[in-house]
Amino acid sequence: MKFQIGFLGLIISAMLSVACVRDGAARNENAAPVQDVVAAVETDPVNTKGDSADDATLWVHASDPSLSLVIGTDKKSGLAVYDLSGNEIQFVRDGQMNNVDHRDGFPLAGKNVSLVTASNRSNNTIAIYKIDADTRRLENVAAAPVKTIDAYGSCMYKSKAGKFYYIVTSKQGVVEQYELFEDGKGVSAKRVRQFKVGSQLEGCVADDELGYLYVGEEDVGIWKYSAEPDAELLKTKVDTVGPGGNLVADVEGLTIAYESDGKGYLIASSQGNSTFAVYKREGANDYVKSFRIVRGEKIDEVTETDGIHVTTANLGPLFPKGVFIAQDGLDDKGRQNFKLVRWDLIVQ
Ligand code: CA
Ligand code: CA
Ligand code: CA
Ligand code: CA
Ligand code: CA
Repeated sequence: MKFQIGFLGLIISAMLSVACVRDGAARNENAAPVQDVVAAVETDPVNTKGDSADDATLWVHASDPSLSLVIGTDKKSGLAVYDLSGNEIQFVRDGQMNNVDHRDGFPLAGKNVSLVTASNRSNNTIAIYKIDADTRRLENVAAAPVKTIDAYGSCMYKSKAGKFYYIVTSKQGVVEQYELFEDGKGVSAKRVRQFKVGSQLEGCVADDELGYLYVGEEDVGIWKYSAEPDAELLKTKVDTVGPGGNLVADVEGLTIAYESDGKGYLIASSQGNSTFAVYKREGANDYVKSFRIVRGEKIDEVTETDGIHVTTANLGPLFPKGVFIAQDGLDDKGRQNFKLVRWDLIVQ
């Protein structure tokens, strides 16, 4: 990727980095300037006032990608389903859903279905839905409530062996992993591991192909583990909050852009400076760059983002190489919403 900056741009970026240091938001000294992109679509606002929208995932419709769905949390009341133009087409008022994720191909009642899970903070259970591909609606398929630790963030992992997992993180710094299975009445879950990471956690994402789990420790940085529940518990640090790193607390949402041959990108929401850090998916997750979503002609800028999601699937003319979704902490019209950015603006 190319950064075309002239002399004026260099002066501005030098001024910005001075301003950032004064704010205590130190950035990597050798870092490239932050790239600016604009959103193409914003969703309807969430149903609740205040800090309510949090995390999103995107389900790709198998035969007509323009019918794909954005599923976003309203962490005070439930889950919203939006079309690719941002119109809300369903709201499931099932509790304080904090984070959401989904995986395709779960065997249920003799069919392969797309499974959506969310961390329900109302009762610390796993919210489980299937997506009805015909009606494009969520349908509750949880067999019975499964209690977890004090739920906060969550994500899913589908292993190469075809097992499906729900992973939940807590404010107490603990991760739990549950295997999801059909039990006759619907989808149930059994805990397969629990481990302590450190201080407050939230965002997480699993790399299904490479078998890794990334966890955000909000004030500290991003950790990488094996996503396999019986693997040895080793962790490596991908990036650090504060001086020497590219993140400003809190580390919030994490997401993975899949490209072929195990390549692609890991992206993190650096909430404290309203930027997104991009890392290589492969190898040692080298830092690539940071970007932010600035005000466009019709859509306002994105700040203080919690959850993010990316897909590299072709979703039609609006998003030919995929889409990056970010929760916006402050929408210009009032209640919070989600912004959708062409992925090819961020990575060519
Ligand atoms: Ca927030
Ligand atoms: Ca948080
Ligand atoms: Ca959050
Ligand atoms: Ca905004
Ligand atoms: Ca707006």
